[in-house]
Amino acid sequence: MNSSVDPCQNGLLSLDDALGRILGSLSPLEATEQVTLKQATGRIVAETLAAPFDLPPFTNSAMDGYALFSEGLRPGMGLSVIGKSMAGQPFEGRVKKGECVRIFTGAPLPEGADSVIMQEETLVTGNRLTLKRLPSKGENIRPAGGDVKKGEQLFTRGKRLNAADVGLLASLGHASITVFQRPRVGFFSTGDELRSLGKPLTPGAIYESNRYQLQSLLTALPVESTDLGQVPDRLEPLLQRLHEAGRNHDVILSTGGASVGEADLLEKALKRLGQLYLWKVAIKPGKPLLFGKLGKAWFFGLPGNPVSVHVTFSQIVRPALWKLAGASSFKPLRIQARCTHDLHKTPGRLEFQRGIVRVGENGEATVRGLAGQGSHQLKSLSQANCYIILPPESKGAKSGETVLVEPFTCLLTNDD
Ligand code: AMP
Ligand code: MG
Repeated sequence: MNSSVDPCQNGLLSLDDALGRILGSLSPLEATEQVTLKQATGRIVAETLAAPFDLPPFTNSAMDGYALFSEGLRPGMGLSVIGKSMAGQPFEGRVKKGECVRIFTGAPLPEGADSVIMQEETLVTGNRLTLKRLPSKGENIRPAGGDVKKGEQLFTRGKRLNAADVGLLASLGHASITVFQRPRVGFFSTGDELRSLGKPLTPGAIYESNRYQLQSLLTALPVESTDLGQVPDRLEPLLQRLHEAGRNHDVILSTGGASVGEADLLEKALKRLGQLYLWKVAIKPGKPLLFGKLGKAWFFGLPGNPVSVHVTFSQIVRPALWKLAGASSFKPLRIQARCTHDLHKTPGRLEFQRGIVRVGENGEATVRGLAGQGSHQLKSLSQANCYIILPPESKGAKSGETVLVEPFTCLLTNDD
């Protein structure tokens, strides 16, 4: 991290610049652990595995039908059915010319056979099979090693394990895998106006929502998250909470108190206890953002408004957590979509408006912005399924124009 960055500068950093600096200063945590397949989904692979055998391990049938040798067959020719090969119960003998073996999907192809004719394309009377059509060599066969070759390198470091990966590992006989340990993320909220759920709302108070939202956002990531509660808008308790949190977390997140109001103490506290690297990013919503270090822990001070929390988390904190957690890619998927209505914007900051993206029957993505784009308006965020990303200089978009959209489902590109 370039420590010459003046934390008190009033100039705003672009999102790319801020993210570049933040990601540039973080390194993956590196510590690894062994987990069973049941715990592996969503975790990040720390080892490259060589396939211990071919997949499929043996050549087998892709259909229910009859296994035979395809050469020398003539239309209308009769074959004798000499046995059966079932999944888990192979036929032990050899198929010769003029013979065939009843076979089911997944059953090993008997020796001598090179293809399987679908049962629908045959007529069977007793032990005699008549072909309605001549099969070609290799038809309905799944060759050994056709999916994975023995020795093939799979699961490079940094890959996030999904359901198919876990299935593939099991197919290869791996009951466990080495993954990166999950970064420990502690989060707390600040604000004298915040009430815990279950307590009555007194005049001027609001129910705390950011910690619930953060908890939910963190659930989708390979991190171990701890709710560190609420902190009042006073320096002493804030210093104490930060000090404690810095001792046993890799990352600390706070919400609120990050701008320049009288009760915005995060900046002061962070400077007192650790280092503050930057603040204020030219995005809307979410301008006040603190980034720094508290002992060994990285610190992100998010704004208080709930929509700003979502934006800063998804645009800055999430990629940072992916990197710390060892992931090799963390760029969100973005697509172009055509606006069905006008979008309004004042030139200045990069904006993340909340919208609904759809893909029509013609395959074209269209998007509309939702009413209620204030940074306090959780309802439109809750109705949205994407961000509409409007560049700083944009004055909005007219209906029919194309804009950039980032779907909320956590799809990530693999190209970095
Ligand atoms: P702040 O950044 O602390 O000035 O907060 C900005 C706005 O977000 C204020 O309206 C706060 O009441 C609201 N806010 C701050 N923290 C939370 C929270 N944890 N849950 C819901 N709203 C919050
Ligand atoms: Mg506050």
